[in-house]
Amino acid sequence: MSEKCALCKGIMEERTISLDLRIDGKLVVIENVPALVCSNCGEAVVTPEIGRKLRS
Ligand SMILES: [Zn+2]
Repeated sequence: MSEKCALCKGIMEERTISLDLRIDGKLVVIENVPALVCSNCGEAVVTPEIGRKLRS
């Protein structure tokens, strides 16, 4: 079972990305974040569990 891109229905691949976040006005770059990246259009989706970790 593989995820499909919400934008183009392309195949989502598991990859690690670097994420730029702005926290309290400061730019924070988090490297090696596991995410699903569309092999067609490059859309990156961070998994919900990671998103929750980043917010805590
Ligand atoms: Zn796509």
